[in-house]
Amino acid sequence: MAAWNGWADGGLVTEEAVGTAAGKGGGMSYSEMGEVWGRYVRARCETAVKALGKREFDARFFQNRDEVVKAVMEIVPDDAGVGCGGSWTTRQIGLLDALRERGNPVFAHEPGMDFEEATRVRKEALLCPYYICSANAVTMRGEVVNIDGIGNRVAGISFGPGTVIVIAGYNKLVPDLDSAFERIKEVAAPANAIRYGMAVPGMDASPCVEKGRCYDCAQPSSICRIITIVRQRPMMTDFKVFLVGENLGF
Ligand code: SF4
Repeated sequence: MAAWNGWADGGLVTEEAVGTAAGKGGGMSYSEMGEVWGRYVRARCETAVKALGKREFDARFFQNRDEVVKAVMEIVPDDAGVGCGGSWTTRQIGLLDALRERGNPVFAHEPGMDFEEATRVRKEALLCPYYICSANAVTMRGEVVNIDGIGNRVAGISFGPGTVIVIAGYNKLVPDLDSAFERIKEVAAPANAIRYGMAVPGMDASPCVEKGRCYDCAQPSSICRIITIVRQRPMMTDFKVFLVGENLGF
């Protein structure tokens, strides 16, 4: 039975793999392999943090979700309004729930909202002093890449909120812009199309929903309409990029 070791994701470091490695003379214990993976993730994230810093981003590395949630809760005043896009990462780590429980007004569209309410929330999110979202890819050269269907997220991170906090698991790290677009086409957009496309009754799903990869469609259900590259901190924004040593989001 494969087990999760706290660092490895999705079975990359499993008891079976350790057994195979040991059988071939690898001789590493399960916990030792987990430690190796942890050092790799930390090294990769810290390299990206340095590259992001050279582009004026306030970039930091956090070992796990608890650490990053604690940091964000300390940064955001307890009465400040917080806007948020549709990020699965921010929901997955419990950040939006924690902010709401503390009393922060949180403007994030959620399943069950009708079109008018969701549109109102998306617009109000852009007027908040804090905007929190994830990224579809972060390059090792220090660029933040996103693709949107509506454009509320890329608007929020471009201008408006004084502080933007991008939270991304290490799985979002890619070598360069070509790899970022590849990740978007092969992973992020199809997974999000499945996430959102299933909830659009009466509309033909985009081909990626069935095929699991991008076919560069331009049909009404397409969620891929605006691509942004933030290659340096926007002039008037305190732009933070928090990398987390966990596999988060799509
Ligand atoms: S097939 Fe269409 S909706 Fe799906 S990832 Fe490609 S462009 Fe986006």
